Amino acid sequence: MGYHIKVDVDDCMSSGKCVADYPAAFAFDEDELATIKDSSQLSDDDFIRVARNCPSRALIVFDADGVEIPT
Ligand code: SF4
Repeated sequence: MGYHIKVDVDDCMSSGKCVADYPAAFAFDEDELATIKDSSQLSDDDFIRVARNCPSRALIVFDADGVEIPT
């Protein structure tokens, strides 16, 4: 554990993949862009997986030191 994730809303294309796969962690905001609800239940592997599955590469994963993890 220790990773965290951010949504680059400028890149989100509202595909819904992250929301469908991890509905407890992601939701759509009023503009139908992904937002993080609560990512505390996601493992480091989940962070990597959801970022890799984002079709627009809008999910960015960081390690505990704030260094971006290549996905
Ligand atoms: S998977 Fe990527 S493009 Fe799709 S809603 Fe989530 S952040 Fe946006």
